[in-house]
Amino acid sequence: MIDNPADNVTGSSQPVTGIDTPASVQDVVRLVRAARTAGTPLYPFSTGLNFGYGGKSPVLPGCRLVDLSRMNRILNADQISLDNPVAVIEPGVTQAQLHEFLQRHCPELGFNVTGSARTTSILGNALDRGVGYFGPRREDVFGLEVVCGTGEIIYTGFRGPRDKTVCEFPPDHPRDEGPLAHSHPYGLGPMVDGLFFQGNFGIVTSACFRLVPKPPCQVALSLALRDEADLGVFIDALARLKRDNLITSVTHIGNQARSHASLMSGMVAYFESACGFAPARARAEAEQALRLIAPGEWTSLGAVTGTRAQVRACLDEVKRRMRGLARVKVMHTELIERAYKLTHALRFLRFGRANAAALAAIRPLHNLAIGVPTDAAIDNLLWRFGADGLTAGELDKSRCGLVFINPALPLDGQLVRRIIAALKDIARSYGHELYITVNIETATSLVAVINLLFDREVDAEVEKAHACARALLAHLRAEGLEVYRARADMMAEIVAHDPAKWEVVRRLKQTFDPANIIAPGRYNRPD
Ligand SMILES: Cc1cc2nc3c(=O)[nH]c(=O)nc-3n(C[C@H](O)[C@H](O)[C@H](O)COP(=O)(O)OP(=O)(O)OC[C@H]3O[C@@H](n4cnc5c(N)ncnc54)[C@H](O)[C@@H]3O)c2cc1C
Repeated sequence: MIDNPADNVTGSSQPVTGIDTPASVQDVVRLVRAARTAGTPLYPFSTGLNFGYGGKSPVLPGCRLVDLSRMNRILNADQISLDNPVAVIEPGVTQAQLHEFLQRHCPELGFNVTGSARTTSILGNALDRGVGYFGPRREDVFGLEVVCGTGEIIYTGFRGPRDKTVCEFPPDHPRDEGPLAHSHPYGLGPMVDGLFFQGNFGIVTSACFRLVPKPPCQVALSLALRDEADLGVFIDALARLKRDNLITSVTHIGNQARSHASLMSGMVAYFESACGFAPARARAEAEQALRLIAPGEWTSLGAVTGTRAQVRACLDEVKRRMRGLARVKVMHTELIERAYKLTHALRFLRFGRANAAALAAIRPLHNLAIGVPTDAAIDNLLWRFGADGLTAGELDKSRCGLVFINPALPLDGQLVRRIIAALKDIARSYGHELYITVNIETATSLVAVINLLFDREVDAEVEKAHACARALLAHLRAEGLEVYRARADMMAEIVAHDPAKWEVVRRLKQTFDPANIIAPGRYNRPD
């Protein structure tokens, strides 16, 4: 059997007819024009690591993949500074690349990182409306350059050639853009940016990405809910902390299955390397240690940032509000390092090594809170599916099966608690455990990131996971809810659900891509 480059962890992929790897905007224009003439649809991706949402797989069969990862320049590299905190990036720029660039050239700046692999893109993630540690990535991106399905280049916001008598930058010349191009996010008139997020109207070839000055003081907070029955009250209390700007990051509230899964491989690695345990013993100790260290069902992680005095005052207020409801732990890099040294020295005691192992596993995850991308979450999956030899970017090559089913929810603690309980029951009836993180993303809404794990090499497992995902979606819809981000294999269900809305989207498609050449069926009707 010939491997399909679109095979991915969801266990669902469409056959593709080939793959192109353009290196410039002009290459992309040529590809689109040729595809339009030939009537061959294209499916663009930035780095193609859309794990759990369909990877590189198009929605419909017969597309040619357009791999944009060679377009990986930071176009304004020499202009980025604390006073100009915007990177103009191409789709192939990865989290690791931007992080390393900033460390070298402007270490005072960071950016909103996600928990996915270091080699994932920034633009592809934002265009699929991914969520970073500090908020939705969509809010970090403006000023797009897009090659539409007509082969024309369009610009959003105030981007584009300064000379308004020409439609595109002359190739092989330095780009001459006006002073507002990289600074004013909105432009004038209707904001068309939104059409290119979770859309299929064009191929985005560059965009402005907001960078964030590192705050003088930044600590991570872990809040462990004491009584599972209080989940609703806990969510409401955390929502108020967010609205009152006391917690500045997205607040992630993970269930035990999720927290344990995130820490397991790091802890096993510690027991094996630092204590010299054989794999079976290391695993047994890690399981025991997790029960000791994270005994509760729900733990929330967030960040508090500001000046030292602001952070101190915020922490006092958080602790006051959480009294009796949750155990509050404050973590910062030096504290973790100090505690690790101490507990590591005590590793001959069960308690000492349990804590040292937990701290070793927490370290990279804590780094996310301070803007350092990490492969830790993906490495956990590779380890779990016996594929430690693969890199994080190769997860799709492992037997790991993963589908996301991620509802948007109103910020109403009791409703969220009820919905989650019902979803867990449905999953249980399919023999699935749900891995859940509830993320308080905005002042009024949250999203739940829920995944099902399965062995992709067992057909029955794949079928069961997808049947379970469909049942979960059916329940959400019966409650009047919807997912906030969809897998490639869900698109037909998405557009069937609200025909009037998707008819409008289809009509817009006819303006930007009349031949339906770009990613047909992606967040749009297939026709
Ligand atoms: C353990 C784990 C943790 C994860 N953590 C997170 C997380 O914290 N936050 C999060 O958001 N996701 C997360 N993910 C999901 C996923 O891995 C990331 O969202 C990842 O960034 C998406 O892959 P990518 O950046 O390569 O995007 P791509 O796969 O390149 O793009 C995604 C889709 O957007 C469209 N697209 C991409 N680029 C373009 C373009 N230039 N023009 C037009 N359309 C385009 C395509 O349809 C493409 O399929 C996680 C997954 C796992 C398994």
